[in-house]
Amino acid sequence: MNDSDIMTARQPDPKDTVIHPTETYRVYAIKYARHERRSPANFIGGDTHDVPMPLDYFVWAVVGKDRTFLVDTGFDQAGADKRGRHITRPIHEGLQAVGIDPAGVQDVVITHMHYDHAGNRDLFPQARYHVQDKEMSFCTGRCMCHHPLALHFEPDDVASMVHKVFKGRVAFHDGDDEIAPGITVHHMGGHTAGLQVVRVRTEKGWMVLASDASHFYANMEGKRPFPAVYNVADMMEAYRRIYALADAPQLVIPGHDPQVLERFPAAGREHEGWIARLDGDPR
Ligand SMILES: [Zn+2]
Ligand SMILES: [Zn+2]
Repeated sequence: MNDSDIMTARQPDPKDTVIHPTETYRVYAIKYARHERRSPANFIGGDTHDVPMPLDYFVWAVVGKDRTFLVDTGFDQAGADKRGRHITRPIHEGLQAVGIDPAGVQDVVITHMHYDHAGNRDLFPQARYHVQDKEMSFCTGRCMCHHPLALHFEPDDVASMVHKVFKGRVAFHDGDDEIAPGITVHHMGGHTAGLQVVRVRTEKGWMVLASDASHFYANMEGKRPFPAVYNVADMMEAYRRIYALADAPQLVIPGHDPQVLERFPAAGREHEGWIARLDGDPR
C-alpha cells in the first residue's frame, strides 16, 4: 500500500482475488485477560438460565509468508486495574510465544476503538493502524457525550489514535476494503458505529475474525444481541453477514468466547488454554 492508498481508502476490486490467488495465512487467537460474569449480562433481555458465562479477551495474529498482521491490541495492566479485569498473560508475552516481536509489527487492524481492543498504544512503534472512517468519527464526536456509549472507550487510547493520524500512521477504510492479498476488512456497525471484521484466507477457506460483531457463539448462533450496542438492527444484520463472508460456519470466530480455546487446537503444547491455532483442524 502506498501513501495515496492511505489517503483514499479504495473499494475492493473483485479481480484482486484473481490477481493474488494463492497466499494463505496462519491465524492465532491469543488470550490475554478474563472477566467473570453471569449469562444474563451477555444478552439483551437477560438469560433465564443465569449461569456463569465469563468473557475471555483476545488479540489475533495473522501470519503470512512475509508479513504479520495484528488484529486489535488489547489493554494493559493499568486498563485491567481500572475496570476490574484480570490479565492472564500480557499481550507481548503471547505475541512472543508465537514468534512475533511487537516492536516489529508493521500493520495493526483495529476492529473498533473500545478499551479492550485499542489499548497498549505504545507497544507497536512501527505499526500502521487500519481503522474505519465511521469508528474514528464515532469515538471523537457527539456520541461520546452519552455515557452508555462512551464508557467502553478510554479517552487516552482515542487521543493516541488521533495523534497517530497526524503522524501519518493511520490507514482509513470506508466499508469493505483490502488490507493485503487474502486479508479484507468489512464494516459491520452494530456494536459500535464503525466496527469492522477481518476476513482472512486460510488453508481451510475464508475465515472471519468477528471481534465484537459477536462476543460469544451464543450471540450469533442464537441471534441474541449483546447488550453493549450502538444499533441493534445493524448488530442483527451483522450476525447474518459474518456467516455469509466465511466459507464455513466454524470459520467465524467470536470476539470473547472461551470456547474458542476448546474448539481449536492449541498452537503448541505449552499454549493450552492460552493460544489457539485457528487455521488448524477444529476439534
Ligand atoms: Zn467492543
Ligand atoms: Zn470487546
